Amino acid sequence: MGQVKATPGNIKKAAAVIRAGGVTAFPTETVYGLGADGLNPQACARIFEIKGRPRFDPLILHECSAARAMKLFSKVPAAAKKLAARFWPGPLTLVLPKAAAVPDIVTSGLATVAVRVPSNPVALALIKAAGRPVAAPSANRFGRLSPTSAAHVKKQLGRGPDMILDGGKTAIGVESTIITFEVGRPVLLRPGGLAVEEIEKVAGPVVVKKRGGVPLAPGCLAKHYAPKARLEIIERGAAVKPGPHAAYLAFSKKPAGKWAAVKVLSPSGSLREAAAGLFACLHSFEKKEIRIIYAERVPAQGLGRAIMDRLKRASRR
Ligand code: AMP
Ligand code: MG
Repeated sequence: MGQVKATPGNIKKAAAVIRAGGVTAFPTETVYGLGADGLNPQACARIFEIKGRPRFDPLILHECSAARAMKLFSKVPAAAKKLAARFWPGPLTLVLPKAAAVPDIVTSGLATVAVRVPSNPVALALIKAAGRPVAAPSANRFGRLSPTSAAHVKKQLGRGPDMILDGGKTAIGVESTIITFEVGRPVLLRPGGLAVEEIEKVAGPVVVKKRGGVPLAPGCLAKHYAPKARLEIIERGAAVKPGPHAAYLAFSKKPAGKWAAVKVLSPSGSLREAAAGLFACLHSFEKKEIRIIYAERVPAQGLGRAIMDRLKRASRR
């Protein structure tokens, strides 16, 4: 379908693409987003595939109203409610404990989820028609500039997305401001389109974390999920010992032997399916009897690189 004007008819089509598990680029007031059904892990895995991201980062879920957005959290402090009431729709992202329905691939396995309500009318209409939260990072290739026009998206992602909704230039042109809360107090995770001074007028002083006197770069504060057990990366067929304290994470085929737990990432050998289920599999190994996880190396291509990045980080602790 490629790049189309954001007419009401095309917005409906784009919503259908999202409902069917596809990926659509769309304008928000900050930058263009690469959107998929935020409750469908495989659709979210495709976002990483299209961006060519060699690692998983948590995605922001976009909703069409504050009431719907709040359902994605399990706990909302009073200060967060105030900020949502004042600044949504708008360039403010809130990071709070996630509701059970939010899949692990959206949060990279974290217990918190990032949510915002964009103000761009095309974005709002799309999310409303899709009838579910839309997970969307910026619609650029990994490590490249965020796109502020449909032409930027097309140039970087080409035929990757199933559809690109052209809604003209984005009004703000920088990413949303990301705020989380520590014991009820707002903490800045990323400066962006909404000034911290505006936030402070509503929610009081905002904590800005610095490392060595320098504010952290965007995204750097996102803690990474790590399994509690030790994790070792192995080749298929390696001589590892099964037992009551050992779990096995296979790529496509079950291993022999009696393991405390076994998970197969994708019986058909699909890296997309493997990526979609990776965090949920690791979480299922969080049992006190499991002390070691043997994880098979997956092919280092496409999403396999992001999977390997995650496994390597988990193995380094
Ligand atoms: P983008 O969607 O490209 O604007 O980037 C999303 C940003 O949100 C990244 O910098 C993430 O690190 C941040 N983010 C998303 N979810 C969380 C979370 N649960 N905790 C901390 N940061 C988050
Ligand atoms: Mg980005």
